[in-house]
Amino acid sequence: MVELSISNLTPSKPEQERVQVLIIGSGPAGLSAALYAARADLNPVVLTGMELGGQVSLTYIVENYPGFPDGVGGAEMVELFQKQAERFGARIEFDTATEVDFSQRPFKVKTYNGEYLAESVIITTGATPKHLDIPGEVELTGRGVSYCATCDGWFFKDKDVVVIGGGDSALEEGLFLTRYAKSVTIVHRRDELRAGAILQKRASGNPKIKFIWNTIITDILGEEAVTGIRMKNVTSGEVIEHPIDGVFIFIGHNPNTELFNGQLDMDKLGYLIVDQLMRTRVPGVYAAGEVADPTFRQVVTSAGMGAAAAMQAIHFIEANTESQTEIIAGS
Ligand code: NAP
Repeated sequence: MVELSISNLTPSKPEQERVQVLIIGSGPAGLSAALYAARADLNPVVLTGMELGGQVSLTYIVENYPGFPDGVGGAEMVELFQKQAERFGARIEFDTATEVDFSQRPFKVKTYNGEYLAESVIITTGATPKHLDIPGEVELTGRGVSYCATCDGWFFKDKDVVVIGGGDSALEEGLFLTRYAKSVTIVHRRDELRAGAILQKRASGNPKIKFIWNTIITDILGEEAVTGIRMKNVTSGEVIEHPIDGVFIFIGHNPNTELFNGQLDMDKLGYLIVDQLMRTRVPGVYAAGEVADPTFRQVVTSAGMGAAAAMQAIHFIEANTESQTEIIAGS
């Protein structure tokens, strides 16, 4: 995880600031957009949100980003992205957008620390892990229930844990947990994994990992900490209780789009709708990365979308500056 420290915090700044490009979110999409906008001399400002780097900063290792044949740590990758964007003039603000008004330009974005007036906005707010919404989940989060193996795996040294889900995240995080845990049981609701072939092969070859198929978890048990789970076999209907120390949940993500309700178009899952040029329905407002991508959701695709969004924002600002200059010249 990328830590916030006092030295990272920005000194007091004017309450309202005018910027050319404001980027909301600091994952691979946001930081790539910042790099491109910075190289166009637009001095972009990046609002980090709660987590600099977004989800990738919590990933132990990224093995499928080109240019890193041996893989790269998620937190290290974020630092590299940040450094590269800052080198060309991007400014990273440890701040979170709380309200947006896209009804007129400059666009207004309120944050915890102030307000921005932006000629163009690039939204890269990413997504948040989905919850199972079962009894015990909320009550025991942080006391045995977790959504991040990299953050919490160490607490389960020599313990027995379950991982819920059958996608890439479940297997990747499950494999990571084998470093600490005595056993990792992957509980999946079907009898076939969604995860890619390489991860499937690694997981099935790991002696600490076993699978329970066609099974859902109905309750997480425990008072002060997790002590077990109640599971139901969806084929036979059989219900069993299973003692366990930790429950890691990796069942997908929800896009972080609440802030834009009523202002931008979204699909039925809540993802922002953009065209091929990363444009939302508001000219000058773009979206990139997982917030607008229910399909690929990879670091490399998010970074590409971020770069594309910034290139469009650059054209947009150029075109609008030119037309304003023409109006002034003609007046
Ligand atoms: P995902 O691919 O959407 O998989 C979610 C898994 O959780 C699925 O197996 C799904 O079951 C299961 N699930 C969903 N809701 C559930 C519920 N209520 N109860 C029980 N199980 C439930 O999500 P992800 O694994 O987080 O991956 C997200 C994206 O990131 C994917 O595109 C993935 O390829 C990518 N990713 C890539 C890597 C990598 O390349 N190394 C690593 C991590 C993530 P069903 O299969 O039955 O739907």
